[in-house]
Amino acid sequence: MITEEKKGNSVFEQIAELGHEQVVFCHDESTGLKAIIGVHNTILGPAIGGTRMWVYEDESQALKDVLRLSRGMTFKNAVAGLNAGGGKAVIIGDARKHKSEALLRAFGNFIENLNGKYITAEDVGMTSRDMEYIHMQTKYVSGLPDYLGGLGDPSPFTAYGTYMGMKAAAKVAYGSDSLAGKKVAVQGVGAVGKILIDYLKKEKCIIYASDFYEDRLKEVTKQFNIEGVRLDEIYDIDVDIYSPCALGATINDNSLDRLKCDIIAGCANNQLEDEVKHGDKCVEKGVIYAPDFVVNSGGVINVYAEYIGKDVNWTTAYTEMIYDKSLSILEAAHSQKKNSQVVAMEVAMDRINSIRGIHY
Ligand code: NAD
Repeated sequence: MITEEKKGNSVFEQIAELGHEQVVFCHDESTGLKAIIGVHNTILGPAIGGTRMWVYEDESQALKDVLRLSRGMTFKNAVAGLNAGGGKAVIIGDARKHKSEALLRAFGNFIENLNGKYITAEDVGMTSRDMEYIHMQTKYVSGLPDYLGGLGDPSPFTAYGTYMGMKAAAKVAYGSDSLAGKKVAVQGVGAVGKILIDYLKKEKCIIYASDFYEDRLKEVTKQFNIEGVRLDEIYDIDVDIYSPCALGATINDNSLDRLKCDIIAGCANNQLEDEVKHGDKCVEKGVIYAPDFVVNSGGVINVYAEYIGKDVNWTTAYTEMIYDKSLSILEAAHSQKKNSQVVAMEVAMDRINSIRGIHY
């Protein structure tokens, strides 16, 4: 479990605590590439998960992020029913300033060296064009543009799945999955947040949004005619649903004291700073928390579909199943007053453990 209580701080202690199989530190002098690839678990299949490019406070934050994200992919892929394990990568740097063809291709070489144990795709700060550069060095990349035979950016499927999960949470909270008239605070209007807003707007929700990039927020609030709020204000608005669609750990002691919502459902990975404490606190507060790795699996479903040669119709139908998966987990958690994150992790581990037995 990810809790605030740390067992140790050395790299190997951190890896052992979360149970990773392999962690690769990548350095390329000519391009300045600094990246970390986390392969968490490959019992169900090759580790599949995107690459994030972000400016971290320091390298330990990058390591923490990749370890948490890759572990989350293990649970996500397991609950989604994919024959894929969990992995993720981070590139340390500002995607708006430091990304280049050479840097991405140097990164592609490191993925190639893993020989198919890890398959990458887009995450925060990356686009399908970037995947094209990585693809010049390795075939172990998905989320490619359609002109390269790929299924393109996974974000629309992540948004659709998150919308399905939000509706399932509404069914548990309100007895109806209609979101009409509900007030929703969307934190982060990037690739996924923006498309989610489109679905919510079409269902006549009242939407408030924030984003770290002012220009992006301005563009999205204008496009959808919704209200933009300051970064920190997002936790204080009186809404029905809080939808974290930016970075992780935004559900913590501070935000939970301030949030006034019935439901938390968004696409961001690793939303709970402490899976036990903050998941439990949601139960105490009577907030339905839709586990991030259950509702945001649309993107990896798309990435997986490309990898096994399925089309958009398959991906759409499979993504729609997030509604039923979310509903069954949330109903079970709600009826037993249990932490929904823990219930979802149990579902994931049950599948992994059952398949572990049939391996030779
Ligand atoms: P993105 O980079 O396109 O958008 C993220 C947005 O969040 C950016 O506009 C950024 O400025 C904003 N942001 C960062 N910190 C913020 C803060 N404190 N407050 C408000 N806004 C902030 O990324 P994305 O692809 O839309 O992904 C969003 C989240 O969903 C991430 O956590 C990602 O890991 C997760 N996710 C994405 C996908 C996918 O298919 N893209 C799949 C699964 C999970």
